[in-house]
Amino acid sequence: MKIVIDPGHAGRNVDPGAVNPGTGLQEADVALAVSRFLEAELTRAGHEVKLTRMEWEQPETDDLAYRTLLANDWGADLFVSLHCNSAASPSAKGYEVWTSPGDTEGDILATCIYAQIAMDFPDRAGRADYSDGDPDKESRFYVLVHTEAPACLVEMAFISNDEEAALLADARWQSRQAGAIARGIAEYANLKGGKQ
Ligand SMILES: [Zn+2]
Repeated sequence: MKIVIDPGHAGRNVDPGAVNPGTGLQEADVALAVSRFLEAELTRAGHEVKLTRMEWEQPETDDLAYRTLLANDWGADLFVSLHCNSAASPSAKGYEVWTSPGDTEGDILATCIYAQIAMDFPDRAGRADYSDGDPDKESRFYVLVHTEAPACLVEMAFISNDEEAALLADARWQSRQAGAIARGIAEYANLKGGKQ
């Protein structure tokens, strides 16, 4: 498959995303680091992969249309956006997977990824919304609405929570997180008939 990985935010001085107030860890940096691990996993599995942002700071990616056009022009089969969550309460924690509203292919992809994260990280809090029968949350995030391929957005953990920020900063954890997402994508590919 042709898979687009979308590391959230343009990075550093343009848009670091959420920042941990204690350590200064930036969401954009974590998103790119995990994206690189995910790129390696997916490439090894035989997929073609593109990242919407390749640099720690890349100003043109601040325009979200740049990201969705890249995916649409390439004819991507899947689009996975990676972010870190943040909340005013420093105790907020856990992971979420988001899709655009309604019953879409993205829901199936999101369910596969959510299930794999839950399996690989049984000690972590899954923040699910089962009101429509699946665990993903739904919102009209720009990149989810404007991408033609099945798309989902993973909020990997809360960067505003010191315990989770320590995980997000850890390269081994980043690699494990990428592995879980890659296995979720593999599960989705199996459901779709083993299409590479
Ligand atoms: Zn974000």
